Amino acid sequence: MTPPFLPFALPEIGDEEIDEVIAVLRSGWLTTGPRAKRFEEDFTTFLGGGVTSLAVNSATSGLHLALEALGVGPGDEVITTTHTFTATAEVVRYLGADPVFVDIAADTLNIDVAAIEAAITPRTKVLLPVHFAGLAVDMPAVHRLATDRSLAVVEDAAHAIPTTIGGRHVGTLGSAATVFSFYANKTLATGEGGMVVTGDPAIAERCRIMRLHGIDRDAFDRFRSERPAWFYEVVAPGFKYNLPDLAAAVGIHQLRRVRAMQCRREVIADRYDAAFADLPVVRPPRPAAGETHAWHLYVLRLGDGAAGRDVFISRMAAEGIGTSVHYIPLHQQPYWRDRYGLKADRFPVSQHVFERAVSLPIYSLMRDADVARVIDAVRRATRP
Ligand SMILES: *Cc1c(COP(=O)(O)O)cnc(C)c1O
Repeated sequence: MTPPFLPFALPEIGDEEIDEVIAVLRSGWLTTGPRAKRFEEDFTTFLGGGVTSLAVNSATSGLHLALEALGVGPGDEVITTTHTFTATAEVVRYLGADPVFVDIAADTLNIDVAAIEAAITPRTKVLLPVHFAGLAVDMPAVHRLATDRSLAVVEDAAHAIPTTIGGRHVGTLGSAATVFSFYANKTLATGEGGMVVTGDPAIAERCRIMRLHGIDRDAFDRFRSERPAWFYEVVAPGFKYNLPDLAAAVGIHQLRRVRAMQCRREVIADRYDAAFADLPVVRPPRPAAGETHAWHLYVLRLGDGAAGRDVFISRMAAEGIGTSVHYIPLHQQPYWRDRYGLKADRFPVSQHVFERAVSLPIYSLMRDADVARVIDAVRRATRP
């Protein structure tokens, strides 16, 4: 008898999320309203305060809003990593600016800060690092560089709740904006959703206006303020990026369990690390002592004495275990490759990682038996 398929990712949705969604449905207020507001307030509190959190319908939207608020436009360059999802870079093109891709560092799989420095030109406007897999980028180094060269920093924190560095949560490190994703397979899942976090009141105000049509207050406030309910002013051609209460209802309760879910992911990562110590593989980079890795992904790299990546993945699939690859680097994607004439030899670390990387299932709903099953399958699938 073959065991049931073990998916690569699954959200942990409890009765609290379900009950809150039902309450939203019964309330009659389905779009952005009291739940979105509460989710934003809770998010700020979770991060430790001192920032504004703005709920949006995706991290892609949030990144677009953050760069728009910084005035990124045609002629500007935004430096980011090739080893990311296309959303990180596509938002730069939305604004008519150009992403400049740099390699990752072999020891962290995060953007190589020395490579950022080498890529800065007079057109550079923003540095856009990605906390890959949920391990924090060396943000003090990025901020030093940005300050020296008068550049803004926007963090793609799609993998990074609840990541810490220097004992502080990603989101509170002093960047112009930090953007989280609540996509279905992320560490905090609302199906679709995201959060823009900023300590800069001007950026907060611009993002708030632009996330809802360039209107100076959102629909819910209109029914509560002193001004007549029908009155609003359009100050810019904004976007439709607001988070509905149906999704925020899920987010409120996901946020409450995000630490517990991270603990479970960390236990699984530790089990994997111990179990794979004697295999011809490179295990994922670890956080510094006392820091939190969100463990959105557990990326194993197959070494020279191991099976190839594609063989490994088909063997895992034959055992009913879902895996994935993070990422097909952007320098390999036809649009980015052709538009910017990108060659793999400019990104040797990312290319090397891509050819050997496989992401294993790691999520809080995995039982000990699931973890053991993955470990046994990995040991078999690794054989050359
Ligand atoms: C998921 C992801 C995004 C996009 O998030 P959405 O909420 O789906 O828009 C952006 N960057 C990275 C690195 C991601 O993994």
